[in-house]
This record gives sequence, structure tokens and C-alpha cells, in this order.
Amino acid sequence: MQPLIELKGVSRAFGGLKAVDGLDAVIRPGEVVGLVGPNGSGKTTALNLITGNLKADSGRIVFDGRPIERMPAHLITRAGIARTFQLVRVMASMTIAENVAVGAMFGADPCPPGEAMERALPYVVRVGLGGRMEQPAGSLTYIDQKRLELARALAAQPRLLLLDEWLAGLNPTELEDGIALIRSLSGSGITIVMVEHVMDAIRALCSRCIVMNAGRKIAEGTPAEALSDPQVVRAYLGDDDA
Ligand code: ADP
Ligand code: MG
Repeated sequence: MQPLIELKGVSRAFGGLKAVDGLDAVIRPGEVVGLVGPNGSGKTTALNLITGNLKADSGRIVFDGRPIERMPAHLITRAGIARTFQLVRVMASMTIAENVAVGAMFGADPCPPGEAMERALPYVVRVGLGGRMEQPAGSLTYIDQKRLELARALAAQPRLLLLDEWLAGLNPTELEDGIALIRSLSGSGITIVMVEHVMDAIRALCSRCIVMNAGRKIAEGTPAEALSDPQVVRAYLGDDDA
């Protein structure tokens, strides 16, 4: 099957620091792939390179057969890639409905504001914020802002959804709901790459995971295989403990 997205030797440095260093990855349609690794290993930077929030210094990113590594972020969104942010970014003074409508207006099937407001509703309901459409986003708790961000991403009707620690900070009940929600999104045909530290969620959801350390891919395989790889264990524990 043709990959939905492929990264070939993608690199990005900040000054002398190679945040992402020659990353190769293939994601096939319908997969839920975990992107894991210790803090600072380059996971968020990798997502930013895919979405065009950052530009790669070198390497290629091919989405659905098209090179996107030079494409501006808004066109990448329109091509069918949406994401949530590790540090949530909602438009605080706008309502929940308006925030989600923005996703629809600038997504894969752009539409005018009025129609976008109508399209927003099912996504708001789906993430559990139904009935609160008129509330300003800034008044939401952190967890509800994360829900809102997911609704906005979904309203863009992505084929590829990138989640950056979307489950972080949830209590056990919320975590179960969150896992069920991601599973249902996958069931509806969205391909998902999730950066996540909650390993139970990775095991529950991902057929495959990619492990990064210091900007490089150090392991790949089923969660059971990849997470028990000696290099991965060493990366998490630090060399001194290995
Ligand atoms: P992760 O998401 O795996 O924790 P990041 O991709 O956020 O890692 O960061 C990888 C490395 O790049 C870290 O050392 C981080 O400090 C650095 N980094 C990330 N973004 C920037 C930036 N905008 N400017 C400078 N350094 C950055
Ligand atoms: Mg990160």
C-alpha cells in the first residue's frame, strides 16, 4: 500500500543542536502510530516539520504522493494534515464554536464562516463539549482546551491527525474516554500519529511505534518490540543506569 506520508532523511537544527537528525518514517493509511522517546528527543519538532510550522533544513516529506517540505503550513492543512499542540493554542476570547469553525474554514474542504459554524457542532459534541458552544475558549480548563483543540483539528477534516501528548494530564476516567475517542477516530478512517508518554495508551491504540532519541530513530516495531529494545530502555533510563 502506498504510504500516506513518508519522511526521508528529514533534519532540522537549532543553532548547533540537531533536534531532528536524518529521520526516516513511513506511515500507511489507517495506521495509528506512536511516536515516543525521552523529553527533548525531537518528537514535537518532527510534528512541526510535517505540519510546516517549521521548515526542514534537509530531507523530503511526501504526503499522499506530493512533496510538502516546502509548502506553507496553511496549504499543508488544506492538503489534509491537522494537529493538536503539546502546549495548547486556543483563541481565548473566541467561543468554542468559533474556535472549531476556524478549523472548518481553513481545513481540507474550506467553507465560509456561516457554514463553518454549522459544521463545527458535531465535532464539539464528539469531544464532549456539546452544550457549551457559546462559552469563551479562555474560560475552559486545560483539559477542556485540549478537547477543543482536537475538535478544531477534526473540523479541518484531516486524513492525517497528529496528536502531541493529547492524553497527558488526564485522570484515569478521562484517559479511558480519551483512548476510546482516539480509537473511534481511527475507526472512522483517520490515520493518526500520536506523540505520547502514556505507554498504556500506546499499547492500547498503536499497531506500531517509532522511538526517537536525540533527534534520531532508535527503534521501530510493535509497542511490545520497540519498547523492550535495549537501546530504548537505555535511552529512557540514561546511560549511567543501563
Ligand atoms: P520532544 O518533543 O521530544 O520533547 P522537541 O522536539 O520539543 O522534543 O525538542 C527537541 C530539541 O530541540 C530540544 O533540545 C529542544 O530544546 C530543542 N528545540 C525545540 N524547539 C526549539 C526552538 N524553537 N528553538 C531552539 N531549540 C528548540
Ligand atoms: Mg514535545
